[in-house]
Amino acid sequence: MSDRETIMTDTKTIQQQDHAHYLHPFTDHQALGRKGARVMVRGEGIYLWDSEGNKILDGMSGLWCVAVGYGRTSISKAVYEQMETLPFYNSFFNTTNVPAVRLAARLSQLAPEGFNHVFFTGSGSEANDTNVRMVRRYWDLMGFKERHVIISRHNSYHGSTMAGASLGGMSGMHEQGGLPIPGIVHIGQPNYYDDGVGLTPDEFGLRAASWLEAKILEVGPDKVAAFIGEPVQGAGGVIIPPDSYWPEIRRICDKYGILLIADEVITGFGRLGRWFASEPYKPDLITFAKGVTSGYVPLGGVLVGSRVADVLIGQGGDFNHGFTYSGHPVACAAALENLRIIEDEGLVERVANDTGPYLKHAFGALADHALVGTAETCGFVAGLNLVKRKAENVHYQVRFDPALGVGMLCRAHMFNTGIIMRAVGDRMIIAPPLVMTHAQIDEMVALIRRALDLTLEEVR
Ligand code: PLP
Repeated sequence: MSDRETIMTDTKTIQQQDHAHYLHPFTDHQALGRKGARVMVRGEGIYLWDSEGNKILDGMSGLWCVAVGYGRTSISKAVYEQMETLPFYNSFFNTTNVPAVRLAARLSQLAPEGFNHVFFTGSGSEANDTNVRMVRRYWDLMGFKERHVIISRHNSYHGSTMAGASLGGMSGMHEQGGLPIPGIVHIGQPNYYDDGVGLTPDEFGLRAASWLEAKILEVGPDKVAAFIGEPVQGAGGVIIPPDSYWPEIRRICDKYGILLIADEVITGFGRLGRWFASEPYKPDLITFAKGVTSGYVPLGGVLVGSRVADVLIGQGGDFNHGFTYSGHPVACAAALENLRIIEDEGLVERVANDTGPYLKHAFGALADHALVGTAETCGFVAGLNLVKRKAENVHYQVRFDPALGVGMLCRAHMFNTGIIMRAVGDRMIIAPPLVMTHAQIDEMVALIRRALDLTLEEVR
């Protein structure tokens, strides 16, 4: 039997076991049973290999997380050494560990001014659950026990726990499990492409921000605890808000004394060309995960600004909240090494001044393709809309019948061409590793163009 045949046999066995035993997140298991899962076996730099030997350029950084690329031995070494020294100890009841303390201090240096405290979790979802409890605890301590409502946005993604999925605005998630839980309400998203007809982007940004004020007045300003949003919506389809949006949101939060939570699970650690994308509009709390360890091991948390930290610590005493893996020493050791790499290789500056602008130019050029209505980037996230008929004004472009599933078709062509791109309806998105070179960006865009050509042939 040849090597290739051995691998193929293994693939079939693994796929059968996979279907028999493994309940996957966000997966149609009937389709999985028919097609079999693609089995990923190895990663190096920006590339992945599957069990059938196909090499694939990972345009999604795993799941928006592998910022420094695959195969970084210095991270594996840091993890190994920490496991040998102290693989676990908890941070409950007056104990701590060295990597967790070092990481909290390092994150306080990297975070915007006024952020001197960190609460660690095992994931972004747990971090957003922490936010819900923390902002409610803050208002209780301030003597406003009625202020418990959190406002979020439709089509946002804040995780899969009960509170995370409730904060999120994904109708498909709310339909399952009786969500949202009480005390969480939603407003429209700043999606110029879908909702900005007849307005300039900045006019639309102000309009979308005004929905927050309208909701505050509807709920009652004395009942609203916080507003939460992703600087750029990721899972919702890389929705880049107009420049006018976030400063206006901050102004409205200030007007009513409401806390502003920036969910930077995707955008943190350089993806948008700053350590934290929300820095200019001064949030009160920042959710992080993913890029903090480049996904090598799970870790998330909340950066707590002084407005909340001073009350929680100064007046609060106990905060009855925490996870076994809060401040896990191995995860924190991985994060410290990952952050060292990001800093030493100047990845944040590169995205801001070099590779980010290069990607903007290269990816933006895809707008000339017959299938592409718009193609825009923000740092190292990008999205393009597949359209049936193009027009100069995005609001006059003709879209495909959603029932045709053109996005999923295109996604399959991407995969078969050797590039991972995600489909959100008919919007194709990427969030590539931050380590990409100019040549690799060119290679990625050429693969995308080839897959777009194949899609066009099929839908024409
Ligand atoms: N918040 C945002 C903005 C996310 O994109 C995600 C995951 O994609 C989460 C929260 C949830 O993070 P996790 O999957 O680590 O629970």
